[in-house]
Amino acid sequence: MEKERLTIAMISVHSSPIGELGTKDTGGMSVYIRELARELGSRGHHVDIYTRLLGSGGNGRKVSLSENVRLVNLRIGNNGHLQRFELYPHLVDYFRELEAFRRREGLHYDLIHSHYWLSGRVGEWAQDRWDVPHVLKYHTIAAVKNNTPESEREPELRVATEKHLAKACHRILAATETEKEQLMRYYGVPSDAIGVVPCGVDLDLFRPMDRSEARQRLGFPQDDPIVLYVGRFAPLKGIRRLLEAVTYLKHHERLRLVIVGGDGEQTAETRGLLNLSGEWGIQDRVSLAGRIEQQHLPLYYSAANLLVVPSHYESFGLVALESLAC
Ligand code: UDP
Repeated sequence: MEKERLTIAMISVHSSPIGELGTKDTGGMSVYIRELARELGSRGHHVDIYTRLLGSGGNGRKVSLSENVRLVNLRIGNNGHLQRFELYPHLVDYFRELEAFRRREGLHYDLIHSHYWLSGRVGEWAQDRWDVPHVLKYHTIAAVKNNTPESEREPELRVATEKHLAKACHRILAATETEKEQLMRYYGVPSDAIGVVPCGVDLDLFRPMDRSEARQRLGFPQDDPIVLYVGRFAPLKGIRRLLEAVTYLKHHERLRLVIVGGDGEQTAETRGLLNLSGEWGIQDRVSLAGRIEQQHLPLYYSAANLLVVPSHYESFGLVALESLAC
């Protein structure tokens, strides 16, 4: 670790850093990995991000993401969509593919940085084989989710794996002091094994702009109060209770709720939100903008009077920071 320029293997099996943000498996973690790798790369470190190959294309396909940063796509299972838990039995194969790729390419890594418990598992095998330090970031903690109302229950396999990884890896990165305390409380991680590094935001992209101009460009009315939600449509995100909150504000006749994100009009989640708005008589207050490319989000943040984060649980919540930056 004395070297000035490190060669780093980042592992993110289930979610690609260049996936479609705002959809089911692709949100803050992808942004975090992409941006962290970009910063490290611009400082002269070499970063290979390992993810799962989806769709057509060759196994071991390398994509250059930014200076000194490559994305390596490796095949496991079939190429179609697998739920997170369906990936678990394939992780050993994933590590085999990774190791075969590394040897073929003659690569040596100084550091492993894994993201989420599934990749933590792969990182653990890699740390043993390569004898290098392994830094893990959980992004969300299953034991905390299981103590959160409205959360889908996380299986014991995940809780047990997270507990195990807490002891096996060399260091854990938490985004907040709260996350650090949770790791200590639920998984018994010693305080000095956890570093707290708050998430950041790209200030070149997320910066203030004139509200009136933003509204004009989006075709939003100039004077109506606009409340904004940005994010995935997972139950934990609490969009349902945001809609419920709007029912208490019916007397504010011009109030609008703009919802950004989701997997498209035809999905059960989107239809569910539309049905609920209809049932509660607020359908003319709510508009679903769909998934928006991140480069256009500053317009939305600037156009809104207020961003609401109605989540039942967040380990960080990048959208809050992006909104504040705007
Ligand atoms: N995002 C986006 N387009 C969308 C919805 C979300 O680019 O339509 C991005 C948003 O800018 C943020 C990330 O997805 O960077 C969501 O991260 P957050 O930490 O708020 O939530 P997570 O997905 O990690 O639960």
